Amino acid sequence: MNELRKNLGEANLELDRCMSCGLCLDDCPTYTTTGRSTSSPRGRMRLMMNLIKGTIDINDKVPYTNVSVRHELETCLGCLGCNTSCPADIQHTDMFECLKMMFFKNNPQYKEQLKAFLKEMPIDNPKKFRTLMILLFVAKRTGAIWITQNTPLKYLLPSTKRNMVKLLAKKIPYRPSSRVLSGFNPAIGKKKMRVGVFLGCINDHMFAEVNIAMVRVLQRLGAEVLVPKTEACCGAIHQHMGEREISSKMAIENCERFLDMGVDTIAVNAAGCGLRVKAYTRALPHHPVIQKIGPKFKDIHEIIWELLEMNPALKNQWIWPGGKERYTYHDACHLVHGQGISDIPRKLLQCIQGLEYISLKESTMCCGSAGTYNIFHPELAQKIQSKKIMNILDTKASIVAVGNSGCSLQILSGLKEKGKSNVKCYHPVEMIDISWRKV
Ligand code: SF4
Ligand code: SF4
Repeated sequence: MNELRKNLGEANLELDRCMSCGLCLDDCPTYTTTGRSTSSPRGRMRLMMNLIKGTIDINDKVPYTNVSVRHELETCLGCLGCNTSCPADIQHTDMFECLKMMFFKNNPQYKEQLKAFLKEMPIDNPKKFRTLMILLFVAKRTGAIWITQNTPLKYLLPSTKRNMVKLLAKKIPYRPSSRVLSGFNPAIGKKKMRVGVFLGCINDHMFAEVNIAMVRVLQRLGAEVLVPKTEACCGAIHQHMGEREISSKMAIENCERFLDMGVDTIAVNAAGCGLRVKAYTRALPHHPVIQKIGPKFKDIHEIIWELLEMNPALKNQWIWPGGKERYTYHDACHLVHGQGISDIPRKLLQCIQGLEYISLKESTMCCGSAGTYNIFHPELAQKIQSKKIMNILDTKASIVAVGNSGCSLQILSGLKEKGKSNVKCYHPVEMIDISWRKV
């Protein structure tokens, strides 16, 4: 505890810059769900100040509640909503991330938790991860996964494991996208750009169709696309859980893969990975490979928009097949709050003829996915998810566009629980690809 207090004090978190204006409250998913001021950005900062002063202990109960100080701090989603709304420009996420890392340093139980997570979900080891995906594919085909979810045998699995299997089962692929895309994919028509593609670990397997659509769209827009043979995880999960060294190693490996490719830019289609790879240069300011390659990472929407600006006539080519449909757009936290990207995906989708856009209430509010949050805090994640799903259903849209795989899984599972599996969830790049296939 003393160690935690000392580290927090030394981290220079500028907690005293909070003016208590409360403008962050309504944008905080945990505060709007629990109604407790201690689970708001402002409240969490006060808890941290009191921890540093030593007037409270991390295991104390928050007055008039049955939750602990630790719980209030740990259940921050890291969604960055408060970063956007705070007029004092306090970097809350850096703050809460720093706090979580300190929890790690001071609590071996967390390291064990991460180890256990990586044992079950070896995203840091592509070979093991691929084997796991094959096993899950077989389990899904043989009905073994159904048994783990729908019979009394489900009680043999702890709820976190059951939730993970449930999430994975939804998207187990036949084959990873790297099998199809690795190597050189030529531009269609005149070459305008040379683009590297970061496929990601989970995305390579569970969102193979998004990666394939992304490369097809880039090629049609005049980009030649290079895909490395092997890729690793971006390191975001390790970073969030305080494993900075592993995360930095992954950053270096990821940048080295693109070193000799001579690419103008590197596309990422998952908002969470995008935010992490864009932060490589800040995390390792003195590493030559990182400083050379890091600035090339861009979100796929940014690259598509750049390519469209080079040939605006292509904007009129996208036609949604099968008649008029209504869609809405959910802003993934790590895209809107983390990368400041919200207009470009909307502008791209508005180029598609045959679709009607309906805006989503609280579109920039987190869906409760937040990396591993829905695995470690399933109850709160579910409440936050429910609110998002109700807002989606209120739009009466038949399509939800989402630029992040984690959000996509969370929204799909929420829709299924409400008996609305007919509502589709697409990445914007898939929607562009579908609209273009018929032309
Ligand atoms: S990061 Fe999100 S959950 Fe955490 S305090 Fe800020 S708004 Fe609330
Ligand atoms: S918006 Fe910023 S300054 Fe205002 S209460 Fe929240 S953290 Fe404090």
